[in-house]
Amino acid sequence: MNTIIEPFRIKMTEPIRLTTREQRIERLEKARYNVFYLDAEDCIIDLLTDSGTGAMSSNQWAALMLGDESYAGSRSWKKFEKTVKSITGFKHIFPTHQGRAAEGILAQALLKKGDVVPNNSHFDTTRANIEFVGANAVDLLCQECYRTQESLPFKGNMDLKKLEICIRDNGSQRIPFAMITITNNTGGGQPVSLENIKAVKEILNKHDIPLIIDACRFAENAFFIREREPSYENMPLLDIAGEIFSFADAATMSCKKDGLVNIGGFLACNDDRWAEKFRNLLILREGFPTYGGLAGRDLEAIAVGLMEALEYDYQVYRHATVRYMGKKLESLQIPFVKPVGGHAVFLDALAFLPHISTDRYPGIGLVNSLYIEGGIRSVELGSVMFGKTDKNGREIPAPLELVRLAFPRRVYTQSHFDYVLEVIEEVWKNRKDIRGYRISYQPEFLRHFTCHFVPE
Ligand SMILES: *Cc1c(COP(=O)(O)O)cnc(C)c1O
Repeated sequence: MNTIIEPFRIKMTEPIRLTTREQRIERLEKARYNVFYLDAEDCIIDLLTDSGTGAMSSNQWAALMLGDESYAGSRSWKKFEKTVKSITGFKHIFPTHQGRAAEGILAQALLKKGDVVPNNSHFDTTRANIEFVGANAVDLLCQECYRTQESLPFKGNMDLKKLEICIRDNGSQRIPFAMITITNNTGGGQPVSLENIKAVKEILNKHDIPLIIDACRFAENAFFIREREPSYENMPLLDIAGEIFSFADAATMSCKKDGLVNIGGFLACNDDRWAEKFRNLLILREGFPTYGGLAGRDLEAIAVGLMEALEYDYQVYRHATVRYMGKKLESLQIPFVKPVGGHAVFLDALAFLPHISTDRYPGIGLVNSLYIEGGIRSVELGSVMFGKTDKNGREIPAPLELVRLAFPRRVYTQSHFDYVLEVIEEVWKNRKDIRGYRISYQPEFLRHFTCHFVPE
């Protein structure tokens, strides 16, 4: 059979409220043309993020009922610990309420002012936690990643040359650890190869620098390795994950991604001295080490979810969805970043709307058109999110103007995606009529969340 079906049946439904174009025009104006201000109920298909927006399985819901809420040493903790150990092989496991809590503990325990942390690309909360303690977060992404039309297998890889230069220029004593983010969220959900992880580890070993994996989408990355890297084509995803983690000294995880839950995370490591520091901060910030920032029932649901994310048939379906979107966009000749990543499709707003200059934010023009046309909520990753200002207050545009459609896990079916494609096609046909926006209000930091726009 050629059709790849959703490998689940639906037992519970959540209604989607349909809206008319007129209603959406009114809602968007009320939201100051910033989709972050929209009520979720006013979005027909919500592709704002894949984080914490997934659907749990019947086994996860059943596991919730088994939650042991004892303060210390609960049964649910034992299950959680055993599962995370069986996947990662790490000796010490610390549950946190989400990924950024793990990052905060890591940064506070191991970094000091002036330290440097290389990564393929830091996720924004990782960067913020590193910078908050006065250290520098450095991105060392491979050159291929910036060529958006070139379909290469591992565009999330770290640039080994840049890593060597970074160590030479800063000195290993100023680099308490390096990181690799799998898949590379900020760089389009592109995967990292095991070959690259090994090579990075070899370089770091020469300088006694530990490696920490930002593991949010480790299962999606393991699937890419199985599909694209020689000698892994028949390996179970659990074994590939095990090999990935075998090169790491610690990991941070947001279970809101490949944990298939709505909240949760963990920090894990091998070193006993690190563990001692992590444990003390965990007790201070999150909770006693056997529950961290979570309820017993959350630990149960994560233990089930992590293993479900490593099921081959689930990943086949997950990646088929993203690839399906890419293939259809390709046939419509609509510009997007190639190849598609593991969790999202990125439309190229600059190529989509060449008549809108970067200071009028083509990404926002496209995001708002998708909402008005079909009630689809997406997000701009362009000059509003990443633009900087020079010392005269003039804006420097971001290197790319993208619009991300992120796919919640196990939530939407193929007909929802066909609808999304129809909406995109309609917007594409009428693209000449789309206008740009000006910013009428912006805060000092992270303006994309709360700024106001006015149409040109
Ligand atoms: C989501 C994410 C985080 C942070 O996790 P939260 O659970 O949102 O705090 C860190 N790194 C990457 C790559 C992520 O995608």
